[in-house]
Amino acid sequence: MPAEPFATHSLEFDAPRSATVDGIVYLHQRCRICGRDFAMVDGVWRAVHVTGLSFQLLEDEVSLRWMKGRCPGILLIADEQDGRKARAPA
Ligand SMILES: [Zn+2]
Repeated sequence: MPAEPFATHSLEFDAPRSATVDGIVYLHQRCRICGRDFAMVDGVWRAVHVTGLSFQLLEDEVSLRWMKGRCPGILLIADEQDGRKARAPA
């Protein structure tokens, strides 16, 4: 399994949690500090917005920014806005 690419975040789960939604297997991880949610789908980690039991993939730009940047250390209002930037269906 590829290493999680968000090393500066403080991960909530010892191991990513597996969830299956609509036949798609997601490995879910969350930062306990900034609250960002990440999920691995098809071997690729992405930023996601979690609603109830479903995962909404966010825009590639948001994914890159959330994973590459350091953990902001707080909940950011900007993240809430990013969480509405759903990725267009492939
Ligand atoms: Zn974080």
